[in-house]
Amino acid sequence: MKVDGLKEFSNIDRSANVTSAQGYYDLIVIGGGITGAGILLDASLRGMKVLLLEKNDFASGTSSKSTKLIHGGLRYLKQLEFGLVRETGSERSVAHKNACHLVHPEKMLLPIVKNGSFSKFSASLAVSVYDLLANVPSEQRRKTLSKDKVNELEPLLRDDLIKSGVLYSEYRTDDARLTIELIKAALRNDAAAFNYMEVKKFTYEGENISGVICWDHIQEKEIVFSGKQIVSSGGPWVDEVSKRENKDSESNLHLSKGSHIVLDKKDLNLRSSTYFDAFDGRMIFAIPRGRMVYIGTTDTTYNGDLDEIKCTEEDAEYLINAVKGMFEVPELSLKDIKSTWAGVRPLIKQKGKGPTEISRKDEIFETESGLITIAGGKLTGFRLMAEKVVDLVLTKSDKKFTGRDTKEYKIHHKPFETYQAYLDFIEALERKYNTQETLDIPFLVSSYGKDAEIIIKYAMDQGITIDESQLEYTKKYEAVYHPLDHIERRTGWLYFDIDRAKLNHDVIAENLRKSLKRNEEWKESMAEVTLEQIKSNGLEELKV
Ligand code: FAD
Repeated sequence: MKVDGLKEFSNIDRSANVTSAQGYYDLIVIGGGITGAGILLDASLRGMKVLLLEKNDFASGTSSKSTKLIHGGLRYLKQLEFGLVRETGSERSVAHKNACHLVHPEKMLLPIVKNGSFSKFSASLAVSVYDLLANVPSEQRRKTLSKDKVNELEPLLRDDLIKSGVLYSEYRTDDARLTIELIKAALRNDAAAFNYMEVKKFTYEGENISGVICWDHIQEKEIVFSGKQIVSSGGPWVDEVSKRENKDSESNLHLSKGSHIVLDKKDLNLRSSTYFDAFDGRMIFAIPRGRMVYIGTTDTTYNGDLDEIKCTEEDAEYLINAVKGMFEVPELSLKDIKSTWAGVRPLIKQKGKGPTEISRKDEIFETESGLITIAGGKLTGFRLMAEKVVDLVLTKSDKKFTGRDTKEYKIHHKPFETYQAYLDFIEALERKYNTQETLDIPFLVSSYGKDAEIIIKYAMDQGITIDESQLEYTKKYEAVYHPLDHIERRTGWLYFDIDRAKLNHDVIAENLRKSLKRNEEWKESMAEVTLEQIKSNGLEELKV
């Protein structure tokens, strides 16, 4: 498969890629979630020689486990976080403009219920302030709704509870795909990035950090990279990274776990994205996506293993009960859950505050030896966080960089100029390939942008399935190494099409074995780990 304008980004020739990435970097970024990916793109656009190192797969941490909203966070207004809401709220339209195939406008329904978090007046006021702070154009601003209108928009809501409602504008995304697209964009600007490259230790020149010693989990050997400045954007792992630099460094984080469940629309046929009151006064999102609806999130302090974060039976039960409390689905049970995911928010510690009250603000820390750490924040604020970090890096640099900033930078290599152009493209492909009944063109275009057509054509030319063609693309252009990279983070099947993930996982492992020139044992172990993960996300142990 050949995609003009896209740089190859694969693990097929890992050894040669790592060798050619040796050299001296202006900046090394630790952590390939949305924060690190944003920093990589910003620094590369300014003309810096920059490298990103990720210990697992890109976006395998919190950045594939969010609620997948590009939002200002209505509830932060209640905590009087006007600055945060203004900052992230205004970033929504920037993200939409720069990656419109990935950041979609989404109307959010806020039902006003008896004894709920908001009255009609307070909801209307809060959303007006929200619109104002986020600079929402007047035609997209909030609408207050009568009870009948709420029923019409979402007939599944419990009639005995609803008093009225408010409809307001948000955006939804695919967090993991946004992360990988940012990294691909940075590569077009000559950045370098490796997944499965774990930073284990630091090197020093005198008192100052001068590089990192990594363990390459693919080649199974130590690799050293040198650089002028180092930023840690390790999300929930930033404390761990800091301790590798200075074992006495203080912990800055309060970790809060959030779980989501995924239901088939057959079991919860939701029409509208809804932000609703749970029975305990917390607020929860229910968001339709393709044939599924996902619900989240919980918010509980987490002290467990960061590499084993799961949606537990208790989390799932909480979310099912919250849904049953608001929607007319009395039969809904744990057994109906198709998939789940859970992640932890790397929040900045605030004395005396529980997870729900802690600010979602980001913060930067620096050590005497020069390690810069950024933590906290939100997916939505990735661009501003990156700008802040790179600005700081530049104040410490003896070189001048005169590149551009990210505000107007289109992330995809063949971007859509407008959202309408994106919608028209889907329609044109649907007309052109209308004989292919199994094609889910909206999914393909929202995942790969205009490259969706290359994937379709390649499948036709080679006589392979669309699923196989997607793997050829992600293998060559998105650094897939493990079957889970493909089924969880590049396609989202693990969450939104788990049966397809189960059906394909063995074939994918075999395909990767051949391309990566591995033995049968490797394939068996990959397929086994993948199947275990599928069962775990599908809560299969609760269904027997
Ligand atoms: P991560 O994505 O965790 O990335 C850190 C990376 O560093 C990881 O991939 C990890 O493997 C890597 N790493 C760690 N140690 C090393 C090492 N030694 N060497 C190399 N790599 C290393 N925000 C929103 O804007 N909208 C939402 O709807 C939203 N919903 C959320 C829902 C939940 C349940 C949670 C938990 C968060 C949500 N957030 C949301 C917040 C948002 O997801 C996070 O702020 C964001 O994803 C954090 O990204 P990150 O890159 O900082 O961390």
